[in-house]
Amino acid sequence: MHEREKLELVDKLSEKGITNIYVLKAISEVDRHKYVPKAMRQHAYKDVALPIGYGQTISQPYTVAFMTQALNLKPNAKVLEIGTGSGYQAAVLFRMGVQVFSIERQFEIYSQTRKLFDQLGIRINTKFGDGTIGWDEYAPYNGIIVTAGSPDIPPSLKKQLAIGGKLVIPVGTKDSQILKIISKKSDDEFEIKNVPEFSFVPLIGREGWNQK
Ligand code: SAM
Repeated sequence: MHEREKLELVDKLSEKGITNIYVLKAISEVDRHKYVPKAMRQHAYKDVALPIGYGQTISQPYTVAFMTQALNLKPNAKVLEIGTGSGYQAAVLFRMGVQVFSIERQFEIYSQTRKLFDQLGIRINTKFGDGTIGWDEYAPYNGIIVTAGSPDIPPSLKKQLAIGGKLVIPVGTKDSQILKIISKKSDDEFEIKNVPEFSFVPLIGREGWNQK
């Protein structure tokens, strides 16, 4: 279902500079229409972010592809996602054969998406709570992907990243962010690459924006 629309989306992402074939293949296989509210389904394969309720969004496919490519994952990698949201990003990672751990702070979204994963047979380890402090129990992670904008890089996430791993996180004001791609070279040595002009909903929590 929706095969033609999926291929058109993949073509668009390639034109925009996504080259990782595993990322493009996963996007061509995941049913994005299952992760958006029914009223939005006709827009599911457009390269746009869409509202998912509770003031939150499903990220734009280009953003999902760009961030996933930036993680530079090896097969069987272990990835922590902060901000489960609709579950689409996690489903793309799962489709790539990655072991996914994902945290969501909004209970209604958490419960809805957990149910969806079960219905679709998508095996993702989910947690309800504040992702700014990470998920220490399963650390270290080969990749950490933060899908909400943060005022700074949460120290807990840097700590829980494996040496050789990458943390991808939008950092900036509540209105606009720079995407930071952080490579961990040793316990206290990090290399940071900045990519401008991304826009995310705020990351709210102990090591994020301090508000309800
Ligand atoms: N990855 C999602 C997807 O594929 O649809 C995008 C989610 S949306 C852009 C960001 C999500 O981050 C929202 O659902 C929001 O509730 C969640 N969020 C914000 N702050 C958080 C925190 N401290 N811990 C966990 N989730 C958080």
